[in-house]
Amino acid sequence: MSRCYNFGAGPAMLPESVLRKAQDALWDIGTGAGILETSHRSAYFDAMMDALHAQFRRIAAIPEDYDLMFLQGGATLQFCQIPATFARPGDTIDCIHTGFWTRNAMRDAAFYAKIHYAYDGAVSNFQHIPRDDEIHYSASPAYVYYCANNSFLGTEFRRPPKTDFPLVADMSSNILSRPIDVRAHSLIFASAQKNLGIAGCCVIIIRRGFLDTCPDAPSMFNYKRLVQNRSMLNTPPTFALYIMKLMLDWIDEHGGLEAVERHNRTKAAIIREAIDDTRGFFTHVGEPESRSMMNISFHAPTPELDAKFVSQAETLNMTGLRGHRETGGLRASVFNAFPVEGCEKLAECIRRFARENA
Ligand code: PMP
Repeated sequence: MSRCYNFGAGPAMLPESVLRKAQDALWDIGTGAGILETSHRSAYFDAMMDALHAQFRRIAAIPEDYDLMFLQGGATLQFCQIPATFARPGDTIDCIHTGFWTRNAMRDAAFYAKIHYAYDGAVSNFQHIPRDDEIHYSASPAYVYYCANNSFLGTEFRRPPKTDFPLVADMSSNILSRPIDVRAHSLIFASAQKNLGIAGCCVIIIRRGFLDTCPDAPSMFNYKRLVQNRSMLNTPPTFALYIMKLMLDWIDEHGGLEAVERHNRTKAAIIREAIDDTRGFFTHVGEPESRSMMNISFHAPTPELDAKFVSQAETLNMTGLRGHRETGGLRASVFNAFPVEGCEKLAECIRRFARENA
Protein backbone atom coordinates (compact mmCIF):
# COMPACT_ATOMS: atom_id res chain seq x y z
CA MET A 1 0.00 0.00 0.00
CA SER A 2 1.37 3.45 -0.84
CA ARG A 3 1.66 6.15 1.83
CA CYS A 4 -1.25 8.56 2.02
CA TYR A 5 -1.35 12.34 2.32
CA ASN A 6 -2.29 12.90 5.96
CA PHE A 7 -4.08 16.25 6.45
CA GLY A 8 -4.68 15.52 10.15
CA ALA A 9 -4.01 18.19 12.79
CA GLY A 10 -1.28 16.18 14.47
CA PRO A 11 0.59 13.96 14.89
CA ALA A 12 1.33 15.16 11.39
CA MET A 13 3.32 14.00 8.38
CA LEU A 14 7.09 13.84 8.69
CA PRO A 15 9.54 14.37 5.82
CA GLU A 16 10.63 11.18 4.11
CA SER A 17 14.30 11.99 4.83
CA VAL A 18 13.52 12.19 8.57
CA LEU A 19 11.64 8.89 8.56
CA ARG A 20 14.44 7.12 6.68
CA LYS A 21 17.13 8.43 9.05
CA ALA A 22 15.00 7.50 12.07
CA GLN A 23 14.53 4.01 10.63
CA ASP A 24 18.30 3.53 10.48
CA ALA A 25 18.75 5.06 13.93
CA LEU A 26 16.38 2.52 15.46
CA TRP A 27 18.97 -0.12 14.69
CA ASP A 28 22.27 1.66 15.26
CA ILE A 29 23.27 5.28 15.73
CA GLY A 30 26.90 4.39 15.11
CA THR A 31 27.61 3.35 18.69
CA GLY A 32 26.44 -0.25 18.30
CA ALA A 33 23.06 0.59 19.88
CA GLY A 34 19.82 2.08 18.57
CA ILE A 35 18.48 5.50 19.56
CA LEU A 36 15.67 3.93 21.63
CA GLU A 37 18.28 2.08 23.69
CA THR A 38 20.60 5.03 24.21
CA SER A 39 21.00 6.62 27.65
CA HIS A 40 20.20 10.29 28.06
CA ARG A 41 23.39 10.44 30.15
CA SER A 42 25.56 9.07 27.32
CA ALA A 43 28.19 11.11 25.49
CA TYR A 44 26.18 10.64 22.27
CA PHE A 45 22.98 12.07 23.74
CA ASP A 46 24.77 14.88 25.53
CA ALA A 47 26.37 16.04 22.29
CA MET A 48 23.04 15.73 20.49
CA MET A 49 21.33 17.90 23.12
CA ASP A 50 24.06 20.54 22.82
CA ALA A 51 23.56 20.56 19.06
CA LEU A 52 19.75 20.66 19.42
CA HIS A 53 19.92 23.68 21.75
CA ALA A 54 22.34 25.57 19.49
CA GLN A 55 20.49 24.77 16.29
CA PHE A 56 17.06 25.64 17.72
CA ARG A 57 18.38 28.96 19.05
CA ARG A 58 19.92 29.82 15.68
CA ILE A 59 16.91 28.82 13.53
CA ALA A 60 14.34 30.52 15.78
CA ALA A 61 16.67 33.53 16.35
CA ILE A 62 16.30 33.25 20.13
CA PRO A 63 18.03 36.23 21.81
CA GLU A 64 20.78 35.65 24.37
CA ASP A 65 18.58 36.66 27.31
CA TYR A 66 16.07 33.88 26.62
CA ASP A 67 16.30 30.26 27.79
CA LEU A 68 15.09 27.19 25.96
CA MET A 69 13.54 24.06 27.48
CA PHE A 70 12.28 20.75 26.12
CA LEU A 71 9.66 19.39 28.52
CA GLN A 72 7.14 16.57 28.71
CA GLY A 73 3.39 16.63 29.26
CA GLY A 74 2.59 18.30 25.95
CA ALA A 75 1.21 21.81 25.54
CA THR A 76 -1.65 20.82 27.84
CA LEU A 77 0.61 20.55 30.88
CA GLN A 78 1.67 24.14 30.21
CA PHE A 79 -2.00 25.17 30.51
CA CYS A 80 -1.55 24.65 34.28
CA GLN A 81 2.23 24.91 34.77
CA ILE A 82 2.34 28.50 33.47
CA PRO A 83 -0.44 29.92 35.70
CA ALA A 84 0.75 27.80 38.66
CA THR A 85 4.14 29.49 38.26
CA PHE A 86 3.40 33.05 37.18
CA ALA A 87 0.05 33.89 38.84
CA ARG A 88 -0.23 34.61 42.58
CA PRO A 89 -3.53 34.24 44.46
CA GLY A 90 -5.74 37.19 43.57
CA ASP A 91 -3.93 37.86 40.29
CA THR A 92 -5.68 38.30 36.96
CA ILE A 93 -4.66 36.66 33.69
CA ASP A 94 -5.77 38.46 30.53
CA CYS A 95 -6.78 36.14 27.73
CA ILE A 96 -7.28 36.95 24.07
CA HIS A 97 -9.93 34.32 23.50
CA THR A 98 -9.93 32.89 19.98
CA GLY A 99 -11.58 29.53 20.52
CA PHE A 100 -11.16 25.96 21.72
CA TRP A 101 -7.49 26.15 22.73
CA THR A 102 -7.70 29.39 24.71
CA ARG A 103 -10.88 28.09 26.35
CA ASN A 104 -9.10 24.90 27.45
CA ALA A 105 -6.05 26.82 28.64
CA MET A 106 -8.19 29.22 30.69
CA ARG A 107 -10.24 26.39 32.19
CA ASP A 108 -6.98 25.19 33.79
CA ALA A 109 -5.62 28.69 34.52
CA ALA A 110 -8.83 29.47 36.45
CA PHE A 111 -7.58 27.15 39.23
CA TYR A 112 -4.85 29.72 39.93
CA ALA A 113 -6.12 33.18 38.97
CA LYS A 114 -9.05 35.29 37.85
CA ILE A 115 -9.49 35.36 34.07
CA HIS A 116 -10.23 38.56 32.20
CA TYR A 117 -11.21 38.20 28.56
CA ALA A 118 -9.35 41.10 26.97
CA TYR A 119 -11.02 40.04 23.73
CA ASP A 120 -13.82 37.51 23.40
CA GLY A 121 -13.91 35.89 19.97
CA ALA A 122 -17.33 34.36 20.70
CA VAL A 123 -18.85 37.61 19.35
CA SER A 124 -17.63 36.71 15.84
CA ASN A 125 -18.12 32.97 16.32
CA PHE A 126 -14.30 32.87 16.38
CA GLN A 127 -14.03 33.93 12.72
CA HIS A 128 -11.99 37.01 13.60
CA ILE A 129 -8.48 37.54 14.99
CA PRO A 130 -8.57 40.89 16.83
CA ARG A 131 -6.66 44.04 15.93
CA ASP A 132 -4.77 45.69 18.79
CA ASP A 133 -7.49 48.34 19.17
CA GLU A 134 -10.09 45.61 19.82
CA ILE A 135 -8.19 44.21 22.82
CA HIS A 136 -8.93 45.72 26.24
CA TYR A 137 -6.50 44.70 28.96
CA SER A 138 -7.25 44.81 32.69
CA ALA A 139 -5.28 47.15 34.98
CA SER A 140 -2.34 44.88 35.87
CA PRO A 141 -2.57 41.30 34.64
CA ALA A 142 0.09 38.78 35.71
CA TYR A 143 0.43 38.13 31.98
CA VAL A 144 -1.47 38.22 28.69
CA TYR A 145 -2.24 34.87 27.08
CA TYR A 146 -3.03 34.07 23.46
CA CYS A 147 -2.89 31.17 21.00
CA ALA A 148 -0.89 32.18 17.91
CA ASN A 149 -2.58 29.68 15.60
CA ASN A 150 -5.97 28.41 16.47
CA SER A 151 -5.72 24.96 14.93
CA PHE A 152 -9.25 23.85 15.80
CA LEU A 153 -10.88 26.42 13.53
CA GLY A 154 -8.05 27.64 11.28
CA THR A 155 -7.42 31.22 12.34
CA GLU A 156 -4.01 32.74 13.00
CA PHE A 157 -2.42 35.94 14.32
CA ARG A 158 -0.34 37.68 11.62
CA ARG A 159 1.85 39.16 14.34
CA PRO A 160 1.80 39.09 18.15
CA PRO A 161 -0.65 41.40 19.95
CA LYS A 162 1.00 44.58 21.22
CA THR A 163 1.21 44.89 24.99
CA ASP A 164 3.62 46.06 27.68
CA PHE A 165 2.50 43.24 29.99
CA PRO A 166 4.32 39.88 29.85
CA LEU A 167 3.00 38.07 26.79
CA VAL A 168 2.57 34.27 26.76
CA ALA A 169 1.89 32.41 23.49
CA ASP A 170 0.74 28.92 22.64
CA MET A 171 2.52 28.32 19.31
CA SER A 172 1.83 24.58 19.20
CA SER A 173 0.47 24.64 15.68
CA ASN A 174 2.60 27.28 13.96
CA ILE A 175 6.03 27.29 15.62
CA LEU A 176 8.87 27.42 13.07
CA SER A 177 6.39 27.74 10.19
CA ARG A 178 7.86 31.25 9.70
CA PRO A 179 10.24 33.54 11.59
CA ILE A 180 9.12 34.26 15.18
CA ASP A 181 9.17 37.61 16.98
CA VAL A 182 10.59 36.09 20.17
CA ARG A 183 11.27 39.52 21.73
CA ALA A 184 7.56 40.36 21.78
CA HIS A 185 7.04 37.49 24.24
CA SER A 186 7.95 36.55 27.80
CA LEU A 187 7.14 32.90 27.21
CA ILE A 188 6.37 30.80 24.12
CA PHE A 189 5.41 27.14 24.30
CA ALA A 190 4.67 24.57 21.60
CA SER A 191 4.15 20.86 21.52
CA ALA A 192 6.18 19.03 18.91
CA GLN A 193 3.81 16.79 16.99
CA LYS A 194 2.91 19.30 14.25
CA ASN A 195 5.98 21.22 13.09
CA LEU A 196 8.73 19.85 15.33
CA GLY A 197 8.43 16.11 14.93
CA ILE A 198 6.52 13.71 17.13
CA ALA A 199 4.43 13.77 20.31
CA GLY A 200 6.09 13.64 23.71
CA CYS A 201 7.92 16.94 23.88
CA CYS A 202 6.98 20.56 24.43
CA VAL A 203 9.38 23.42 23.66
CA ILE A 204 9.45 26.44 26.00
CA ILE A 205 11.21 29.69 25.14
CA ILE A 206 11.36 32.00 28.16
CA ARG A 207 12.76 35.46 28.83
CA ARG A 208 15.31 35.21 31.65
CA GLY A 209 13.83 38.18 33.50
CA PHE A 210 10.48 36.37 33.53
CA LEU A 211 12.12 33.10 34.58
CA ASP A 212 13.69 34.93 37.52
CA THR A 213 10.21 35.64 38.94
CA CYS A 214 9.45 31.89 39.32
CA PRO A 215 8.79 30.92 42.92
CA ASP A 216 10.36 27.78 44.37
CA ALA A 217 8.34 24.70 43.37
CA PRO A 218 8.60 20.89 43.16
CA SER A 219 11.13 19.71 40.58
CA MET A 220 8.98 19.10 37.53
CA PHE A 221 7.05 22.34 38.13
CA ASN A 222 10.21 24.33 38.63
CA TYR A 223 11.25 26.09 35.41
CA LYS A 224 14.44 27.38 37.02
CA ARG A 225 15.58 23.89 37.99
CA LEU A 226 14.56 22.59 34.57
CA VAL A 227 16.66 25.26 32.84
CA GLN A 228 19.63 24.64 35.16
CA ASN A 229 19.44 20.91 34.38
CA ARG A 230 19.06 21.47 30.61
CA SER A 231 15.54 19.94 30.75
CA MET A 232 17.01 16.65 31.97
CA LEU A 233 16.00 16.50 35.63
CA ASN A 234 14.59 13.10 34.80
CA THR A 235 14.68 10.89 31.71
CA PRO A 236 13.61 13.10 28.78
CA PRO A 237 11.61 11.86 25.77
CA THR A 238 14.80 10.81 24.01
CA PHE A 239 13.25 9.69 20.73
CA ALA A 240 11.08 12.83 20.38
CA LEU A 241 14.21 14.95 20.93
CA TYR A 242 16.13 12.93 18.36
CA ILE A 243 13.34 13.43 15.81
CA MET A 244 13.24 17.15 16.59
CA LYS A 245 16.95 17.36 15.80
CA LEU A 246 16.27 15.72 12.42
CA MET A 247 13.41 18.19 11.80
CA LEU A 248 15.78 21.10 12.44
CA ASP A 249 18.28 19.57 10.00
CA TRP A 250 15.42 19.40 7.48
CA ILE A 251 14.61 23.11 8.06
CA ASP A 252 18.29 23.97 7.51
CA GLU A 253 18.37 21.89 4.33
CA HIS A 254 15.34 23.88 3.13
CA GLY A 255 17.10 27.20 3.64
CA GLY A 256 15.80 28.26 7.08
CA LEU A 257 12.56 29.82 8.22
CA GLU A 258 12.16 32.42 5.45
CA ALA A 259 12.27 29.63 2.85
CA VAL A 260 9.97 27.43 4.95
CA GLU A 261 7.48 30.32 5.18
CA ARG A 262 7.51 30.83 1.38
CA HIS A 263 6.90 27.11 0.94
CA ASN A 264 4.03 27.16 3.48
CA ARG A 265 2.44 30.23 1.83
CA THR A 266 2.53 28.50 -1.55
CA LYS A 267 0.90 25.37 -0.13
CA ALA A 268 -1.91 27.26 1.62
CA ALA A 269 -2.54 29.39 -1.49
CA ILE A 270 -2.93 26.31 -3.70
CA ILE A 271 -5.78 25.03 -1.51
CA ARG A 272 -7.39 28.42 -0.81
CA GLU A 273 -7.45 29.31 -4.53
CA ALA A 274 -9.18 26.02 -5.31
CA ILE A 275 -11.83 26.84 -2.67
CA ASP A 276 -12.28 30.32 -4.26
CA ASP A 277 -12.61 28.74 -7.71
CA THR A 278 -15.69 26.79 -6.60
CA ARG A 279 -17.54 30.16 -6.50
CA GLY A 280 -19.26 29.66 -3.18
CA PHE A 281 -19.77 25.89 -3.25
CA PHE A 282 -17.00 25.52 -0.69
CA THR A 283 -16.74 28.29 1.92
CA HIS A 284 -13.64 29.32 3.89
CA VAL A 285 -13.86 29.45 7.67
CA GLY A 286 -12.43 32.68 9.13
CA GLU A 287 -12.31 36.24 7.84
CA PRO A 288 -9.71 36.70 5.07
CA GLU A 289 -7.15 38.50 7.28
CA SER A 290 -7.60 35.95 10.07
CA ARG A 291 -7.10 32.76 8.09
CA SER A 292 -4.38 30.31 9.05
CA MET A 293 -1.46 29.23 6.88
CA MET A 294 -1.29 25.87 8.70
CA ASN A 295 -4.92 24.75 9.09
CA ILE A 296 -7.22 25.45 6.17
CA SER A 297 -10.80 25.09 7.37
CA PHE A 298 -13.69 25.14 4.94
CA HIS A 299 -17.03 23.49 4.35
CA ALA A 300 -19.41 22.32 1.66
CA PRO A 301 -23.06 23.51 1.57
CA THR A 302 -24.26 20.69 3.89
CA PRO A 303 -22.75 18.31 6.50
CA GLU A 304 -23.75 15.42 4.20
CA LEU A 305 -21.63 16.87 1.38
CA ASP A 306 -18.75 17.39 3.85
CA ALA A 307 -18.93 13.69 4.73
CA LYS A 308 -19.14 12.72 1.05
CA PHE A 309 -16.05 14.85 0.31
CA VAL A 310 -14.10 13.19 3.14
CA SER A 311 -15.00 9.73 1.77
CA GLN A 312 -14.12 10.68 -1.79
CA ALA A 313 -10.75 12.11 -0.71
CA GLU A 314 -10.03 8.91 1.22
CA THR A 315 -10.50 6.83 -1.92
CA LEU A 316 -7.81 9.06 -3.46
CA ASN A 317 -5.42 8.39 -0.56
CA MET A 318 -6.00 11.68 1.29
CA THR A 319 -6.87 11.32 4.99
CA GLY A 320 -7.51 13.47 8.05
CA LEU A 321 -9.77 16.02 6.32
CA ARG A 322 -12.67 15.87 8.75
CA GLY A 323 -13.01 19.14 10.70
CA HIS A 324 -12.46 19.35 14.47
CA ARG A 325 -14.94 17.25 16.44
CA GLU A 326 -16.56 20.42 17.86
CA THR A 327 -16.89 22.37 14.61
CA GLY A 328 -17.61 19.82 11.89
CA GLY A 329 -16.83 20.87 8.32
CA LEU A 330 -13.47 20.18 6.68
CA ARG A 331 -9.91 20.98 7.68
CA ALA A 332 -6.68 20.50 5.76
CA SER A 333 -3.67 20.81 8.06
CA VAL A 334 -0.53 21.47 6.06
CA PHE A 335 2.29 21.76 8.58
CA ASN A 336 5.92 22.28 7.56
CA ALA A 337 6.57 18.75 6.33
CA PHE A 338 3.36 18.40 4.34
CA PRO A 339 4.36 18.18 0.65
CA VAL A 340 3.20 20.59 -2.06
CA GLU A 341 2.06 17.67 -4.25
CA GLY A 342 -0.51 16.74 -1.58
CA CYS A 343 -1.91 20.29 -1.71
CA GLU A 344 -2.17 20.11 -5.51
CA LYS A 345 -3.97 16.79 -5.27
CA LEU A 346 -6.45 18.19 -2.74
CA ALA A 347 -7.00 21.33 -4.88
CA GLU A 348 -7.88 19.15 -7.87
CA CYS A 349 -10.27 17.10 -5.72
CA ILE A 350 -11.96 20.29 -4.40
CA ARG A 351 -12.54 21.64 -7.94
CA ARG A 352 -13.84 18.33 -9.29
CA PHE A 353 -16.13 17.69 -6.31
CA ALA A 354 -17.70 21.16 -6.65
CA ARG A 355 -18.30 20.62 -10.39
CA GLU A 356 -19.92 17.24 -9.80
CA ASN A 357 -22.04 18.21 -6.78
CA ALA A 358 -23.04 21.83 -7.40
N1 PMP B 1 -2.56 24.06 21.64
C1 PMP B 1 -2.83 23.96 20.33
C2 PMP B 1 -2.94 25.20 19.52
C3 PMP B 1 -2.98 22.71 19.75
O1 PMP B 1 -3.28 22.63 18.43
C4 PMP B 1 -2.84 21.55 20.54
C5 PMP B 1 -2.92 20.15 19.98
N2 PMP B 1 -3.72 19.94 18.90
C6 PMP B 1 -2.58 21.70 21.90
C7 PMP B 1 -2.43 22.97 22.42
C8 PMP B 1 -2.46 20.52 22.82
O2 PMP B 1 -1.24 19.88 22.65
P1 PMP B 1 -0.88 18.54 23.41
O3 PMP B 1 -1.78 17.48 22.89
O4 PMP B 1 0.56 18.32 23.07
O5 PMP B 1 -1.08 18.78 24.86
